[in-house]
Amino acid sequence: MQVKIVAGCIACGACESICPAVFTVYDSAEADNAQVPGNEAECREAAKVCPVSVIKIEE
Ligand code: SF4
Repeated sequence: MQVKIVAGCIACGACESICPAVFTVYDSAEADNAQVPGNEAECREAAKVCPVSVIKIEE
């Protein structure tokens, strides 16, 4: 599974709150795909709650 963040992040911090291992929010969110294994459920949850739907999950 790969996590991508497309353009439009508003840096709300929700993804980092849900899964700090994968998501770090600077001016916009970044995802560390090396940390995705073991955190798949949290990544899906982050994608679901992102208010602007810019977190994309690729299976
Ligand atoms: S939840 Fe979405 S909008 Fe908020 S920081 Fe993460 S990627 Fe950006």
